[in-house]
Amino acid sequence: MAMNEDKERFEHPVYSVLEQVPGGGVGLTTVDRLLTWGVTNALWLFPMATSCCGIEFMATACSRFDLDRIGTIARGSPRQCDVMVVAGTITVKMAPRVKRLWDEMPEPKWVIAMGSCAISGDFYRDIYSVVPGVDTFLPVDVYVPGCPPNPEQLLMGLHRLKEKIERRRRGEWVERDPAPVAAGLRVPFPRIGDPDREPDMDAEQLAAAMAIGKHNG
Ligand code: SF4
Repeated sequence: MAMNEDKERFEHPVYSVLEQVPGGGVGLTTVDRLLTWGVTNALWLFPMATSCCGIEFMATACSRFDLDRIGTIARGSPRQCDVMVVAGTITVKMAPRVKRLWDEMPEPKWVIAMGSCAISGDFYRDIYSVVPGVDTFLPVDVYVPGCPPNPEQLLMGLHRLKEKIERRRRGEWVERDPAPVAAGLRVPFPRIGDPDREPDMDAEQLAAAMAIGKHNG
């Protein structure tokens, strides 16, 4: 699976109007370019910051690195955001809530996994309560490795995401970002998009996570 290709469409009302007009295809292309220019220069981030990587995210947003200067700001509501930045460890109990917040974000939308914990679970990957990489339940578009990644690396990740969106909107094929693999750092657990991932794994993961903390009797 290369990025969220089936979900990367703009649902602007002007599209349906232009489709009715003879020769409206030219206008459609122009509007599409305009929307692509707009979205790539105004990526609003939903910071899913849970631990130390969140501090680097905050540093990126503050005056020294000044995220705003590239049109990118952080918002507190998922309904206003284009990009979820997962920065920190995600526990199994937290994962369904993260997924729910992701579901509340409007299309088109993207995910950045920031830091080793979000990418693979890192030090905590073998603990029963830790998700061994958020790409087990989210369609990650860009990985920003590091422990923690510094602000420049996050800015570079955003730049890579912007390039990917622009290329996809031009109709170019964009390969899925390869998940960083270091010896012993990733558990052999199928990620979203892996050919050996069972289709019902999402449902099983969600059911198991929702059952945590519930005891019979
Ligand atoms: S990758 Fe490192 S800095 Fe980031 S949350 Fe994990 S332990 Fe903290």
